[in-house]
Amino acid sequence: MRFDIISVLPDLLSSPFAHSILQRAQKKGLAEIVLHNLRDYASNKQKSVDDYPYGGGSGMVMSITPFACCIEALKAERDYDEVIFMSPDGETFNQTIANELSGKKNIMILCGHYKGIDQRIRDLFVTREISIGDYVLSGGELPAAVLVDAIVRLIPGVLNDETSALSDSFQGELLDAPVYTRPADWRGHKVPDILLSGHEAKINEWRHEQALIRTQLRRPDLLED
Ligand code: SAH
Repeated sequence: MRFDIISVLPDLLSSPFAHSILQRAQKKGLAEIVLHNLRDYASNKQKSVDDYPYGGGSGMVMSITPFACCIEALKAERDYDEVIFMSPDGETFNQTIANELSGKKNIMILCGHYKGIDQRIRDLFVTREISIGDYVLSGGELPAAVLVDAIVRLIPGVLNDETSALSDSFQGELLDAPVYTRPADWRGHKVPDILLSGHEAKINEWRHEQALIRTQLRRPDLLED
């Protein structure tokens, strides 16, 4: 699966993809993440990618031409399943969307900055707009990193047994159960006996019960669905 991410600050994105599971996925050839500097597509001398808003008001707006040039250059090379704009007014990202997108082949992601991007980019090129929550960040880079991380870990072969996504919260209707590791007794705070019993069926039953209790307490809405 390939991601092309268009940003004015590609450096902001290199670190999140250079470690742990995301790095491994790229090394195994299961995910390819390509960063594009929007400024490379600015035609003016100053390499500026934004301008004052028509109608006045505060904040700069990202211009259509550099985005259009970059998007068109990428589209000339391959077909994209989705051109996603990260935006606080988009649909709220969740595990269902992550699962759906993990089945795609090529995804392009546009990161906004400042006041946002010229509406015509959204009208003409964007197929989907996604928010990572009801708050406003300075740019689309961190949201893009969140999106790509959540998607890549779902690509078959990326996670191994120890990190399997199947029991993760939101993968089914239940949140994940509590987890423990050594020591079994830390200053008198003990790990539940059942986890030390070696009785797999009983342990699974306990985990299911704990996941249910946790879901009822924290996210009863998931059980209603
Ligand atoms: N004026 C805009 C916010 C601009 S913030 C508004 O009120 O809707 C600058 C950029 O950061 C946005 O264009 C978007 O790409 C990104 N961004 C900020 N918050 C985000 C969020 N919650 N989810 C996804 N992208 C976000």
